[in-house]
Amino acid sequence: MNNTNRAWESPRWWFYILLPLVHFASVKLTFFCAVTPENEVVVWLPNAVLLAALMRFRGQRGWLMAILTFCSDTFANMAVFTPAVAVQLSVINLIEVAVTYLLMRRAGASSDLKRVEDLRKFTIAGPLIGTLLASLMAAAVLKTQMATGTPYLTLTRLWWFGDALGMMIYAPLLLALTQTDHEPVRLHKTDALAVLVIVVLAGVIFSTYGGAINGVSMTPTLLLPMVLYIAVRFGTRWTALTVALVSLAVSIMLTSGNRPFGDISVHLEIIHAQEFILTLCIVGIGFSILMDELRVRERGLEARVRQRTHELEDSNSKLATLSQTDGLTGIANRRRFDEVFAAEWSRAGRSGQSLALAMLDVDYFKAYNDTYGHQCGDDCLRAIANLLGKNVRRVGDLAARYGGEEFAFIAPMTDSHSALGIAETIRRALEQLNLPHAASPFHVVTASIGVAVIIPGKSDTPQGLLQMADAALYQAKQQGRNQVVLAG
Ligand code: GH3
Ligand code: MG
Ligand code: MG
Repeated sequence: MNNTNRAWESPRWWFYILLPLVHFASVKLTFFCAVTPENEVVVWLPNAVLLAALMRFRGQRGWLMAILTFCSDTFANMAVFTPAVAVQLSVINLIEVAVTYLLMRRAGASSDLKRVEDLRKFTIAGPLIGTLLASLMAAAVLKTQMATGTPYLTLTRLWWFGDALGMMIYAPLLLALTQTDHEPVRLHKTDALAVLVIVVLAGVIFSTYGGAINGVSMTPTLLLPMVLYIAVRFGTRWTALTVALVSLAVSIMLTSGNRPFGDISVHLEIIHAQEFILTLCIVGIGFSILMDELRVRERGLEARVRQRTHELEDSNSKLATLSQTDGLTGIANRRRFDEVFAAEWSRAGRSGQSLALAMLDVDYFKAYNDTYGHQCGDDCLRAIANLLGKNVRRVGDLAARYGGEEFAFIAPMTDSHSALGIAETIRRALEQLNLPHAASPFHVVTASIGVAVIIPGKSDTPQGLLQMADAALYQAKQQGRNQVVLAG
């Protein structure tokens, strides 16, 4: 599936049922594992649900998605806040997501987050601007309408970081889970070992109380290199999932009073956890997207090289054919004739079989040109080449234009009788073509052919055979033309 296709993909009907359900489940999940007993939110996931939906479907029916998540949000907020505050906070959440989505579109970010560039734009639009804006408003609502002793800026900071982290963890995860075009992961042997180490280490860290075992530090920070390994090896989908799981595990440790970062104040602890999750997100997801991007680029490059190589081979073979073809008649040229003649000569020498060579010269061709013009002369040569091609067609045979109005053909494993037969057939066929030639005593275009046949011995040379055929041709001319002569 490519970008252009997905731009037109619309959500199915069940998506509108699933969306509020996932949203509501995310609220519950957040309350279950990411809200401290002091009611401070470490990570707020639900806003990422609407954002991911908007990104996934390019804002199509965005208003419907917004209404559905707004209802779910308000309903969930009612459990903690007065109805008026619940509605106001839901509106603020909606503004946060809308601002993020619109800023991303304005910045031209492709919303499948498959390039580092898009991740950068997403991070600025959402976790930086959208959530900050929302937290300034939310803190004002909380400060004015709820009797809270927490300072305005502290409220802002908590809300901001919680929402920003939720967006960073959850939006890439939801997108990665709903995308179907994934890089296949090729597992190495070391991967199994690495995953085992990661799972064991994670188990030890998450079951540690107070961030240390017998004085040896065991804070969640130790998991960062492991997540990097997953990012490099397994791609964005698995990294997003790992980052989400680690973040949730850290949140649970925090909210269940496990003191993962040691004996520090609750506020400091939340800040520690949020900083850790932020680093985990940026480094982990950033790295995995970078790796995916590199892999895609590498494959694109390989495909281009393959295509270029193919084109090059194609044009090379075309060039090779061209360099062996006579431009005027389209049959083999002198170069090809020389190659094939040399090859057949040594083959015949090795196998002790005969090799026949014939030289054909058009009779009175100068006069033909003079009478009918060069253009007609060329047509006449093409007709003769065509005729040769039709008559010299056994496997291994070759007919070629030798030069000017002279042609030649080679016939391996052919004795004198057969060679004479072929030559005579060609001579007669040309005569019967009935190409008018007013300046010839035959009144039609004719040719003389000299044939030579040999079983190459040690003392013989290819030039010798050529001279024999040439001598036979000369004799045919001498004896009155339009005839075939076999070399003596
Ligand atoms: P002969 O019967 O003794 O072979 O006489 P001829 O006129 O055929 O022989 P000659 O060697 O005097 O002339 C060959 C002519 O073939 C001269 C040249 O203009 C013509 N010729 C050679 N190559 C081409 C070509 O590519 N196109 C055309 N139209 N004529 C060509
Ligand atoms: Mg000639
Ligand atoms: Mg001639």
